[in-house]
Amino acid sequence: MSSNIIMKINNVSGGYDTPRGFVSAVNNVKLDILQGEILGIAGESGCGKSTLMKIIYGYIKPPLKLISGEVLFEDKIIVPSDEKFLERDIWWKKISWIPQAAQNIFNPLKRIIDHFEETLNTHLHKRVTKSELREIVEKHIIDLGLPKEVLDSYPHQLSGGMRQRVAIALATILRPKIVLADEPTSALDVMTQKVILHLFKKLQSTQNMTIVLVSHDIHMLSVVVDRIAVMYAGEIVEVGSIKDIFENPLHPYTEALIESIPKIGEKKFIKGLGGQPPNLLNPPPGCRFHPRCRYVMEKCKNQEPPTVKIDDRIVKCWKYSS
Ligand code: SF4
Repeated sequence: MSSNIIMKINNVSGGYDTPRGFVSAVNNVKLDILQGEILGIAGESGCGKSTLMKIIYGYIKPPLKLISGEVLFEDKIIVPSDEKFLERDIWWKKISWIPQAAQNIFNPLKRIIDHFEETLNTHLHKRVTKSELREIVEKHIIDLGLPKEVLDSYPHQLSGGMRQRVAIALATILRPKIVLADEPTSALDVMTQKVILHLFKKLQSTQNMTIVLVSHDIHMLSVVVDRIAVMYAGEIVEVGSIKDIFENPLHPYTEALIESIPKIGEKKFIKGLGGQPPNLLNPPPGCRFHPRCRYVMEKCKNQEPPTVKIDDRIVKCWKYSS
């Protein structure tokens, strides 16, 4: 494993058993996550982003099933593996996961400090006194720019944005190396979104954390990420630096996503991407994007495109391969 790769996702496929058949939510995903970067994973709702997050965290509970592939963290296979090992050695300490709507995870009957206490007592495996505990938590909260008064509040006394910031602080209290955050700014107003993104930037710059942000909003991701992986219908179709992706999107789906972002001062009507994402119970043959692609060729309809590397970028499309 190259020295700056902290996590390797090797040909991971997984999905859900449903009464109507197997839904292939993630198909043969291969992705390297680099130490200290903020990586964005972008794509429409239902494209498999959240499922991919669960799989790489190792949180694979029925009806979700891992079909093939593996995830390596610091050269060690963590998926598939025993959940007891993940609980003891990986979750919270090495890798943290902030699920969707994390601001709602708090127990309304407990103060914020109680949530930190519970987390530390469960995962530290050593006894700390109440005053030591408060010292650790206060320092962390202040380092992240949150007022220490939130610790004595009940969740309902805080705004949604503040609860989300506290959820991020809770997920990072044990200084994990990787933080996985699923739609961390959804349902928040634009100003609060900015504050949350700033918080992730702070975790990256002051604590050298590697952060993976999942969102349907590629524009929001562009404010903070170093690289973007674009997902379509369970597959990674393009990976590149934020600059390259926005200046010169290679994959037709990435191009359409970027075209759909409104530009300040522009009065023309934004068309957006036509058609619907495919039904993953029965995805289209060949390129999964072909029914919506403006560049579709005959072979796209029945032959799966290869994934090719172009300089530092990766793209899965027949336009770049013969
Ligand atoms: Fe479009 Fe073909 Fe490329 Fe798929 S492989 S994105 S259909 S050009």
